[in-house]
Amino acid sequence: MTEDKITDLLPLPDDWRRALAVVAHPDDLEYGCSAAVAAWTDAGREVAYVLASRGEAGIDTLPPAACGPLREREQRASAAVVGVGTVEFLGHRDGVIEYGPALRRDIAAAIRRHRPELVVTLNHRDTWGGVVWNTPDHVAVGRATLDAAADAGNRWIFPELIEQGLEPWNGVRWVAVAGSGNPTHAVDAAPGLERAVRSLLEHRAYLEALTDQDPETYVRDFLTETTTATGKRFGGRPAVSFELFGR
Ligand SMILES: [Zn+2]
Repeated sequence: MTEDKITDLLPLPDDWRRALAVVAHPDDLEYGCSAAVAAWTDAGREVAYVLASRGEAGIDTLPPAACGPLREREQRASAAVVGVGTVEFLGHRDGVIEYGPALRRDIAAAIRRHRPELVVTLNHRDTWGGVVWNTPDHVAVGRATLDAAADAGNRWIFPELIEQGLEPWNGVRWVAVAGSGNPTHAVDAAPGLERAVRSLLEHRAYLEALTDQDPETYVRDFLTETTTATGKRFGGRPAVSFELFGR
């Protein structure tokens, strides 16, 4: 048995109908995940997005009051490209999203509204696997999402949700963490790759502020390189990786 064999990524389970993706910012899902989302919606699965913030602190030259609505529009357009029509914003403040009961409650409420079997989030760990430090918003939202998958099923933790008519949902079977430095599973990115490129390109104002490169070249190169690198552990096809937690 070679070492390569041990680190091969497994196919992500596909015996589910509804997924909910919960992330901190507009564009978090488009840096890779949306290729998997395109494949899921192609197969007739329902996917909804929940964003903790509007990413209003993401563009240096644009004050948050103007940036928030712009990034919300870009995120909705971006989701539509991969077949996602439901995008909700929880209204936490970009850059200082706090891990704690308020965030867990808001995410648990979203899980009860959408009743997913699969929850997707972004890397909750301190780094991206190497020495590049993760942002506090990703860590807070990732951890709170892992916790909220269980909170959603408990009647007594957030009783105010019952008063709002949100009954417990115990149906979350997995939480798949994208962008993890310790991936265990993957999804074939080939069928959705072109739409993933177009989906990330919908964040045009953000990308133009981020890089001097032509946005299309930057996006295509980034998504091709990352999915190709992941594919080396997934039968040689471009892939999106996840660290999968079961319940
Ligand atoms: Zn982010």
